[in-house]
Amino acid sequence: MSKYFLDVEYLPKRWYNVIPDLPEKLAPPLNPATMEPIKPQELEAVFPKALIAQEMSEERWISIPEEILEVYRIYRPTPFIRAERLERTLRTPAKIYYKYEGVSPPGSHKPNTAIAQAYYNMKEGVEMLTTETGAGQWGSALAFATNLFDLKCRVYMVRASYEQKPYRRILMETWNAEVIPSPSKLTESGRKILEKDPNCPGSLGIAISEAVETAVKSENTKYSLGSVLNHVLLHQTIIGLEVKKQLELLDLKPDIMIGCVGGGSNFAGFSYPFVKDAMKGEIELIAVEPKACPTLTAGEYRYDFGDTAGLTPLLLMYTLGHDFIPPPIHAGGLRYHGDAPSLCLLVKHGIIKPIAVSQRPVFEAGVLFARSEGILPAPESAHAIRIVIDKALEAKKTNEEKVILFNLSGHGYFDLKAYEEFLSSKLPDT
Ligand SMILES: *Cc1c(COP(=O)(O)O)cnc(C)c1O
Repeated sequence: MSKYFLDVEYLPKRWYNVIPDLPEKLAPPLNPATMEPIKPQELEAVFPKALIAQEMSEERWISIPEEILEVYRIYRPTPFIRAERLERTLRTPAKIYYKYEGVSPPGSHKPNTAIAQAYYNMKEGVEMLTTETGAGQWGSALAFATNLFDLKCRVYMVRASYEQKPYRRILMETWNAEVIPSPSKLTESGRKILEKDPNCPGSLGIAISEAVETAVKSENTKYSLGSVLNHVLLHQTIIGLEVKKQLELLDLKPDIMIGCVGGGSNFAGFSYPFVKDAMKGEIELIAVEPKACPTLTAGEYRYDFGDTAGLTPLLLMYTLGHDFIPPPIHAGGLRYHGDAPSLCLLVKHGIIKPIAVSQRPVFEAGVLFARSEGILPAPESAHAIRIVIDKALEAKKTNEEKVILFNLSGHGYFDLKAYEEFLSSKLPDT
């Protein structure tokens, strides 16, 4: 390994599935009509068989096909960087390292699963994928991936973002995706909402309903989800597996690992390969969420729908209720009412510790990071940085040489409007 970069020969060849290593059996998703566990066949209208098999798999290791590795090599292995300048700024004895997922072409960890999902759909003869996107991070990751595997891609983008945040839409269109402002007249769910409110600004829940409806009603079309589900978290473990290797080569043992949580995929991908160490009490794993959407810290642990309209199977998770609409904070990727079931289970058992933080201290941390390390973090990732800084300052008080790792899930170069508001003191502290 050079100073920061893992040689490409170390790119992991398998994903890690946490399911067999959980402290109790994961409760199955339920069919809301029968309240019975979902059968694989019931998911075939929306997902390809290979992904359904991964969703339900109890195998600990799953091989990554060469065609996926080949695309991963465009930006993987991603760098693992010591934030020495941030350490100096904070005058902390702690050592801070970050894994940087912002080097992928769409600028976040999301293509790690988008590439795998596009590949498995292509293998089964699917011609088009549909999905929803809020600010456009997931939509641009899927557009990037489908374009490489010659699939069509239709993204229902929340209308408010479609109008106010054009840059990610343009990125999606550059990668050949069709971007539709949602609610739209193309689906029954969209038409119903437009009849009642022709100026409806849309929501992620509505966009999911439109994307799922299109997948179910069209030939050779399936739906793709960017977080929460087991197979998504599985694909993301490439992050933590690389970190493991990078730590080995640096002869380093982490004390604390920190990440932000929207649906849980980047945090799980980063931390699950270390879950056994956390169970032994050797590493502290901290999941950071926004106070405006405090799923893990204030949600109820129960079965709930994954979407607003109630079209998805029921998942056992911490939830704020599927009709909860979080305030419009800038970390759009963290505005989700639930979280991945395996992550919720690990939180319930105290193996992963959740913390909620409010918006202004998050942006303070993001700006401090940019001023010391250079990279402008995504507002989502800045949630993790807030707690990294707090932990590094605690270590200063006790004069402990803690090793703190965090996942920098993406860059914030499409989020400049949010930073502008912060810099001109117009940002509300929701
Ligand atoms: C989407 C997104 C998140 C939140 O999603 P998770 O599934 O919780 O990882 C976090 N960071 C960035 C940069 C994102 O784009």
